[in-house]
Amino acid sequence: MNYIVSLYKTYSKRMIYFRLILIFNFFLFIQCNTPSSPIAEIKTLPTLPNDTTNTREQPLQTTNKNSVEEKKEIPCNWDTYLQAQHLINIQTLDLSILVDLKYSTEDNFMHKDMYGCLQNCYLQPDVAQKLVQAQFFLKEINPRLSLLIYDGVRPRSVQQYMWDILDMPIREKVKFVSNPKNGSLHNFGAAVDLTIYHLDSLQPLDMGTPYDYIGVKAWPIKEKLLIKNGTLTKQQVENRKILRKVMTKAKFFNIQTEWWHFNSCYRKKAYQIYSIVEGIP
Ligand SMILES: [Zn+2]
Repeated sequence: MNYIVSLYKTYSKRMIYFRLILIFNFFLFIQCNTPSSPIAEIKTLPTLPNDTTNTREQPLQTTNKNSVEEKKEIPCNWDTYLQAQHLINIQTLDLSILVDLKYSTEDNFMHKDMYGCLQNCYLQPDVAQKLVQAQFFLKEINPRLSLLIYDGVRPRSVQQYMWDILDMPIREKVKFVSNPKNGSLHNFGAAVDLTIYHLDSLQPLDMGTPYDYIGVKAWPIKEKLLIKNGTLTKQQVENRKILRKVMTKAKFFNIQTEWWHFNSCYRKKAYQIYSIVEGIP
């Protein structure tokens, strides 16, 4: 009899445990499938569009796959060197500003990668602050637009290399590269080449020519005529005007022959307040 009672108690205990487990699982199921449950929210979240400017940056910076692979093998300390010159990586101030250094790819007028593994845009600190302002003014016009930088500081050693490998008379050469002996505002980190990028179309705005286009079509000073003769559309010039508007509001100066180039000051002033960035010896 005692044996039967003992067996019954053991069976009852097991049944209680079993039922408790069933009840626990039932509540767990309810909890996981209730809309207010954090677990349920995580399960039902749609895949977020990859639309933050920071993550967009990566594909932009690695468009030239071959050159990136080559760069991995090149020992590089550009960032350390440029930081030692007291220059600022613009994205440490504003991650929403996009950077695609064209001279760090083969997608430039020389079809050569001249920056190696340098991927970041460095500028003088006050120039970088002005660019952050320009981005702010652009976002005021349309938050789905962003500045996209093609070039910032260009060490004089790189400009010398560009100058040396261009095989043409000097009078022709100066149309492509300014003479490194004189020092350009890019050498000081006081000029920037850039365009406007649309975060919805994932394309730069149509400015009528590609970056570094050599010819009258890229000249802001000829825009009225270029619209008149049908070389540029009104929309292309409007896009350039947005760029000029935000950059001049941030106290940059545009030049008459390149829609993408903006100076932060005159060369005389640059010699007074900055040093030329010579490049890694
Ligand atoms: Zn430039």
